[in-house]
Amino acid sequence: MNPQSNRQCRHRVPSSDEMLEAISSRDGSYDGAFFYGVVTTGVFCKPSCSSRPAKPENIRIFLDLESAINADFRACKRCRPECLERELERMVEVARHIETHADDRLTLADLSKMANLSPSRLQKAFKSAFGVTPKEYQDASRLERYKNALKKGETVTEAIYSSGYSSPSRVYGEVSRTMGMTPAAYREGGTKEQIFYAFCDSTLGPLLMAATQRGVCFAQFGESLEELLGQMKAEFPKAKFSESTCTAGPDLDRWIQALDEHVGSHAPRPDLPLDLRGTAFQLKVWRFLLSVKEGDVLSYGELAKEIDEPKAFRAVASACGANRIGVLIPCHRVLRGNGDLGGYRWGLDRKRVLLDGERANRATK
Ligand SMILES: [Zn+2]
Repeated sequence: MNPQSNRQCRHRVPSSDEMLEAISSRDGSYDGAFFYGVVTTGVFCKPSCSSRPAKPENIRIFLDLESAINADFRACKRCRPECLERELERMVEVARHIETHADDRLTLADLSKMANLSPSRLQKAFKSAFGVTPKEYQDASRLERYKNALKKGETVTEAIYSSGYSSPSRVYGEVSRTMGMTPAAYREGGTKEQIFYAFCDSTLGPLLMAATQRGVCFAQFGESLEELLGQMKAEFPKAKFSESTCTAGPDLDRWIQALDEHVGSHAPRPDLPLDLRGTAFQLKVWRFLLSVKEGDVLSYGELAKEIDEPKAFRAVASACGANRIGVLIPCHRVLRGNGDLGGYRWGLDRKRVLLDGERANRATK
C-alpha cells in the first residue's frame, strides 16, 4: 500500500504549470488540492471535471472552496466541487475516528453511517483522500502503535496485545505485507536490479555487504572476497553489481563499518534499512528475529510458537538457515531446544563469538 501518493498532492501546493496540466488531463488525484474557475462561464470545478476544457487564460485557480465562492464563482453542477470539500472534511473525521479506535473492530458499515455515505462511496472517497482503504488505514495505525510500543521497551508479545492485535500472526502477516516482497518478485531473482556492495576484513573474517536502493539485502561472512562475491551473485542471479562508491547508491562503506564495529567492539547494532526477500513464511521468521533483543536467545520451537506456527519448528530452522543478512537479522540468537548452539550458516565458531559477546555486553549494562 502507498498512503503517500495522494496525501503529498494534498499537503503541498502544486506549481501553476502542474495545476494546468492536471486540469487538462483531468487528473483526479488533484481533486481536493485545488479548484479552478472559468471566467467566461463563472463556474468553478474540480480538476477532474469532465466539462469542456477552458482556455488557460480564462482559468483562475483557488486553493479552497471558500475563495472560489468569495470570488463569485458558482459550483459546477456536473462535478459538484462543493460536495468534495465537505466529503474531505468528513474523511478526515473518519480517519481520526479510526486512529483513536484502532484497537476496535470497525466495520465499513459503521464508518459509512458516521460519514453519512454508502459503504462503497466511503471506500472510494477515503481512498481518494488518503490513498488507502479505511481497513488499511486501521492496520497502519495499529502497526504504528506496535512499533512505538516496541520502542518504549515492551516485549514483542506485550506490544502485540497492547496495540490491539489479537495474535502475533496478525502483526507478522501485516508487517510482511507492508515491508516484504512478494514470492513472485523474489523468484525473479532481482531482475535488472542494481546492487551495490562493499567488503571489509571484519573481526569475524571477510565480510561482504550488499544493498539495493531499498536497503541491505546481503551481509555475509566467508573465507575470501571471491567466495563471497560468488555467493552474492548466486543469490541475485539477474542483478547488476557495482562496488559501492558512496556517491551513487546507499552509503555502504559507512554501513559496513558500523556493522563491523557492532560485531567487534559491541557498538550498538546499526539500525540500517533492510531489503528482505523471501517467502511469506521466511519473512515472518526474519521479522520476528528483528525483535529479539541483544543477549536474549530462544529455541527454534519457541520461535515457531511465537509466530503462531507451533508445529513448524523445522521450517523455522531452515528459514534461519536461509537468512542472507547475518547479524543484522540476528538468527544467531536461535538455539536448539536443549540449549546446544544448533547450526549457523556462517559457522558455529562465529555464532559462539557473537553470543558470548552479547551476553558479556548485556552483563555490563
Ligand atoms: Zn465541473
